[in-house]
Formats: sequence, C-alpha cells, structure tokens
Amino acid sequence: MPEKGFDPELVRRYDVPGPRYTSYPTARQFSPAVNEAAYLRAVARSNEDFIPSALSLYVHLPFCASPCFYCACNRLITNNPQVVAAYLRRLHREIAQQGRGFDRDRLVRQLHFGGGTPTHLSDTQLQELFTTLRDSFHFASDAPTEFSIEVDPRSVDAARMGRLAALGFDRVSYGFQDLDPKVQQAVNRVQDAEHCLGLIPAARQAGFRSVSVDLIYGLPFQTEAGFGATLAAVAAARPDRVAIYAYAHMPVQFPVQRRMRREDLPDAELRSRLLTLAVEKLTGAGYVYIGMDHFALPDDDLVQAQAAGTLQRNFQGYSTLSGLDLVGLGLTAIGHVGDVYAQNAKKLDDYYAALDGGRLAVKRGYQLSADDRVRADVIGRLMCYDELHFADIERAHDLEFTRYFAPEMEKLAALQADGLVRIGEDGIAVLPRGRYLRRALGMAFDVYFPQTTASPGYSRVI
Ligand code: SF4
Repeated sequence: MPEKGFDPELVRRYDVPGPRYTSYPTARQFSPAVNEAAYLRAVARSNEDFIPSALSLYVHLPFCASPCFYCACNRLITNNPQVVAAYLRRLHREIAQQGRGFDRDRLVRQLHFGGGTPTHLSDTQLQELFTTLRDSFHFASDAPTEFSIEVDPRSVDAARMGRLAALGFDRVSYGFQDLDPKVQQAVNRVQDAEHCLGLIPAARQAGFRSVSVDLIYGLPFQTEAGFGATLAAVAAARPDRVAIYAYAHMPVQFPVQRRMRREDLPDAELRSRLLTLAVEKLTGAGYVYIGMDHFALPDDDLVQAQAAGTLQRNFQGYSTLSGLDLVGLGLTAIGHVGDVYAQNAKKLDDYYAALDGGRLAVKRGYQLSADDRVRADVIGRLMCYDELHFADIERAHDLEFTRYFAPEMEKLAALQADGLVRIGEDGIAVLPRGRYLRRALGMAFDVYFPQTTASPGYSRVI
C-alpha cells in the first residue's frame, strides 16, 4: 500500500496547472524594470548588511549533445567545440565581473552546476571554471559547503566521477528518467541500465557525499511493469535522494516535444497509477517523502534539515542551507540578492552583447514588496514543513496572521474539508494527505496565481 496519506483520487482532483514554488513570486512576474543597475544596487545593499549573507553560486551550462524529446530546459544542442568555447569566454568574464561586486568576506557555501548538460564540457573546461570561480569569489574552507553537479549518465564513467570529485563536487544528481529501453528510445535518451545503476556506487567511491537520481513519469510507452522495474532497481541501489518529476506535455512552448506522439503518452489514469507506484515503491523501500517530488533516505541531510527546521525551497528544489544570496551565472540564470530577483538574457546573442560591452547580462527581474516577503515566507514553510505557527510569521513580519490572511484562511477551509490541513488557533498543520499537495497549499497564499491560471505554461500536479 502507498504511504498513509497518499490519495490518488484527491491528487487527481487537485491536478490543476500551477507553480512549483521554487521561488515566490515565480519568474512569470519578472519584468525589465529590474535591470543591471537595480541588481547592482541590491548587491551593494547586501554588502552593507550588518552580517552579510554567505553566497550560493548557480552556473548554467546550457549545452547538450542531443535533444531529449521531453525536455523543457533552457538548453542548446551542439557538438561544435567553437560554440562552447565562445560561451565559456563570456561566462568566465561574467564570473569575474560578478565577483567584483561582492565583498571578499562573503563566503561561498553553495555551488551548483546545472544545465543543459554540465558534463558536456571537458574536465579541463570544468577545471578552468572552478579556477575562475575561486579567483573571483571567496570559497569557505572551514564552514559546511555543498558543491553539486547535474550529470548525464551517458557522459561519465567511474573514472570521470573520480575526476569530478577531485574538482570539489560532493553532490551529484543523475538523470535516469526511466531505465526501460522502449521508453528511452521514444524520448531519444538511450542509456544502459547497468551503466546508470553502477554510477551510484561509483560516485560514493569517488567521495561524493550525496547521490541523487531523477526519474520522470508520464513518458511515452511507460507501463506499471516497466516503471515499477526502474523504481525497484533504483531503490535497491540506494541513492540518498530520488526525485520523481511529472512530464508536462507542452509542445507549443517546447517544440521538441512534438517528436513524441500524444497517443503514446500515458493517459491521466495511468499517470496516476505510475505516481502511486512510485510513492508505494519508494516509501516501501524506506525512503522518506520530503515534499513536492522529493524522497530521501532517513539519514539524508534533507530529512535532518526538515526535522531541524532548516529546510529551504530553492531553484534546485530543496536545500539544507538557508539565508544565502544567490548569484546566477550564465545564460538565463536567475540570481536572488536581498529583495531582488535578477535573470540573465535568454538569447545567446543578448548574453554575449552585454558581456562584450562590459555589462552584466541581467535582462529582467523582480523587486519584492513587504507583502511578497511575507507570502514567500508562508509558502516556503508550507512547502517544507508540516506545521506553520502563526506566531513565527507574526514575529518575523509584524502582523496579525488571521487578520492579514483573512481571504486566504477562507480558501484554506476548503482544503481543510478535504483533509489536507487542519487549521488550529495557533497555526496550520499539514496533514499526511496534504503533504502530496503542497503546491495547492501554496496557491492559496499566492496573490498572483488567480490572474495566471488562464494562461498556459504551468505543469500539472500529476
Ligand atoms: S533533458 Fe537535459 S540532457 Fe536532455 S536535452 Fe534537456 S537539458 Fe539536455
């Protein structure tokens, strides 16, 4: 049986497109009003804080060797070394320029290489990026750090995992998606199951502290038998974390998805059964459900952080390090410094033109208001924890919770009737069945969501 609380019927009923709340507000609210100058002012202000935040660096490496047909990422398909080299020249320039903005006493505690396919770069190119990052920012040597990289299993072997560990990476997430060969053919991502599974102990042996595996349900030709076999094999290999993402078919926004036939995709009923199977297999194998799409072994940092009250939602999903300013580096990368979100250019030409002109490539962003801050705090807690104490929000934001959120409390009453939450005098308890629908809880407090439900672009819950 699935873990107590998972109710496929209820999950299906709440299956409306909506944000995943890796930020609040979401990037849909970003506008060109927040430009390079506004971002630089936010950086300068953050340096003046009484205790300036430590830093998290996100480096976007957009290149991939071939397109996966389900892909909804910001990526560029190329096998031309000159194209990659031209990008890296600008990226090095941007890292140095961004580094000059932050005071040297601000330690880097988190680093994430995402893509695209970061391992599409050679070891030398990755090494050179590390050198520029270390020259430009002050990396913590005596505080806990997390250096993570997204790895395409087709681009590494055990020896390369050793070289990535030697560079300084200590966390890896592997994109397995599904180990069924028929599904892999259909999505244009063929990767040998034995090779993939062998990379889990290989990473451990290389010294990685945390190994994560990403799976996707809702892909063409998936069956309960095939996906069940993938889940069983992955659970037996014991990665520290497993993320189960729902494939969202949005071919208008992502034309590559037209390469898959709609009639080969699982229908709503089968998607629901695949998700049920994932919950059943992973919790049955001892994984703890964290929230949204994430499962982790009981001794994993995420489970510990959830218990300790230090879990955070961020652009990569969940994080154990809180209160960091985020510096986004590379095409489309998003930074978050103080009260300002800033996103880089989405087009290569714009990105190059800005950096060639001696400017940062910030093209749009968002300045949080006081109301945004309180809602971000509430939504963040609902995404991470099973309890929200009114007093914590009242202390942090100087307001009376039930008065400030009177309309939202009415919306929550409907969720209470469905058994997702219990509203008490002192706070909101997220009940076991609500843990699988945290996104719906977030939507209740999202002041922008009602205006955006009619527009396409958000994925569904299942
Ligand atoms: S899914 Fe990942 S590896 Fe595949 S095309 Fe998209 S970014 Fe590249």
